Amino acid sequence: MIIALLNQKGGVGKTTLALHLAGEWAGRGKRITLLDADPQGSALDWSQQRSRGGLPRLFGVVGLARDTLHREAPELARDVDHVVIDGPPRVAGLMRSALLAADLVLIPVQPSPLDGWASAEMLTLLSEARIYRPELRARFILNRCGARTVIARETAEILADHDPPVLRNMIGQRVIYADAAQSGRLAFEIDDDGPAAREIAALVTEIERIAP
Ligand code: ADP
Ligand code: MG
Repeated sequence: MIIALLNQKGGVGKTTLALHLAGEWAGRGKRITLLDADPQGSALDWSQQRSRGGLPRLFGVVGLARDTLHREAPELARDVDHVVIDGPPRVAGLMRSALLAADLVLIPVQPSPLDGWASAEMLTLLSEARIYRPELRARFILNRCGARTVIARETAEILADHDPPVLRNMIGQRVIYADAAQSGRLAFEIDDDGPAAREIAALVTEIERIAP
């Protein structure tokens, strides 16, 4: 399966979630390749920092920020259980290519209804991709949920009927995610049964129910 974390907005958690989903799957014994489709290469940086720090390799990270992604990703997917694509910000050609490659699109958003969850352009690109790929599934993920989590949950329930629907499992605003990213680690390597590790595990279980 090819799972793409996409949102043209920067800073919504595409890289954070791509790394943690990949790490959780790897921990469950799946073979994973993370495809860094962001020209800034932050997932690649994370992986280099990790190997410099002598930390064990959990999954391969491949830099592939080009418009031929939809042709190359299925080839990479042949050798592994899942390919996780860390999507680019604002680059329409790359975004189209990632949408054509994906079986499941996950759109991280912050739980403020006033923010506008995804750009209209992102949703337009998604419906365009569905002309070619009617089976393409998409979900919002609420990331960086804070003290107003109850509101976020209500919003999620209201929006569960919408298209794309919202995943029930949300991700909290937690310093451990930022600490992990900065040190080439994942949250579960810092605190293996903490709230971050548990919410990521729950998220992966929910995703597996959508797309086994
Ligand atoms: P994107 O890839 O969409 O640009 P990132 O994953 O790089 O977003 O996240 C942007 C910043 O927000 C990073 O500094 C990251 O550590 C931080 N961040 C992302 N998700 C969370 C979270 N749930 N809790 C705390 N910080 C987060
Ligand atoms: Mg990123």
